[in-house]
Amino acid sequence: MGTKIDIKSMNLSELEEYITSLGQPNYRAKQIFRWMHQGAVSFEEMSNLPEPLRRRLAEDCKITVPQVEKKQISILDGTIKYLWRLEDGNCVETVLLRYRYGNTVCVSSQVGCQMGCAFCASTLGGLMRNLTPSEILNQVLFTSLNSGLPISNIVLMGIGEPLDNLEAVLRFLELINQKDGMNIGMRHISLSTCGLTEKIDKLASYQLQLTLSVSLHAPDDETRSRLMPVNRRYGVEAVLGACHRYFEKTGRRVSYEYAMIDGVNDSEAQADLLANRLKKAPGHVNLILLNDVRERTLRPSRKADAFRRRLEEHGVTVTIRRRLGSDIDASCGQLRRQTLGL
Ligand code: SAH
Repeated sequence: MGTKIDIKSMNLSELEEYITSLGQPNYRAKQIFRWMHQGAVSFEEMSNLPEPLRRRLAEDCKITVPQVEKKQISILDGTIKYLWRLEDGNCVETVLLRYRYGNTVCVSSQVGCQMGCAFCASTLGGLMRNLTPSEILNQVLFTSLNSGLPISNIVLMGIGEPLDNLEAVLRFLELINQKDGMNIGMRHISLSTCGLTEKIDKLASYQLQLTLSVSLHAPDDETRSRLMPVNRRYGVEAVLGACHRYFEKTGRRVSYEYAMIDGVNDSEAQADLLANRLKKAPGHVNLILLNDVRERTLRPSRKADAFRRRLEEHGVTVTIRRRLGSDIDASCGQLRRQTLGL
């Protein structure tokens, strides 16, 4: 026990290798893959597999399945938030956002986070552990199965820093992209990072067609270091350099997230500096209204419209992100903390 194979984190070639090592024909791998990625929770259900194989798989392997610890539905906009309990008792959040163009799932990549951003609830208790590929995938799969809704888009913007768990995230992307799996195209996936530059370069080397979102939140090192300790290691210039290389390598424009915080990053001078710095690393700016986090003293800005206009005058493309699920703590690690009493 305990050391069972996490078979759902395997890709098809690993699965084939494993299955043939059991003396089984290759095509069994695809059958098992399909069952798992349609939500089978046991090998017993896999009715097209011979009984002895099912028993053998159950001895060697586990199929990870999260349990619904809590589920909240927004009466304002239908946003659904899940708190999942994992096998080891840890919990992570997943949010389903309902847009006109389809349903988006916001998934977590780690239990907790070690990046320490000053405005974020996810990092308050530190990092507990990385999620496995199957645990990231399960958030999409079981959100869809539990809600009965199809999923067209994924954003890696939940709890955790995806590039701090890059190997598992890459495997998750490979799995979710499979036509025998959930078959979600890379162009329908966004990955958000606080700006780990070496990892951005590593990601770029795979030339995936996903959208890279970078949490910038300030155009100057002084403010950004205050908000995001990671900036002391990778400053604004270095992060934007990596974004530029990402664009050159993949042809995909980067999207910059900027949470508007009262009196901290919302001045006209900062809008000018931001526009100026983005000339070298073109992309789209997503202004977000800071979500109040109970434990944090920072407050949302009242100058988002003026900030947007200023950026637009400089020719920067900007959107202000609509707030969804504001009645159900649907942001930034808040449900996990409240439910677990952290
Ligand atoms: N670690 C990754 C992804 C998780 S956070 C990253 O840093 O990008 C997803 C987004 O939510 C990030 O842009 C993050 O900065 C932002 N965020 C965190 N707490 C917030 C809050 N209280 N209000 C608004 N945005 C917040």
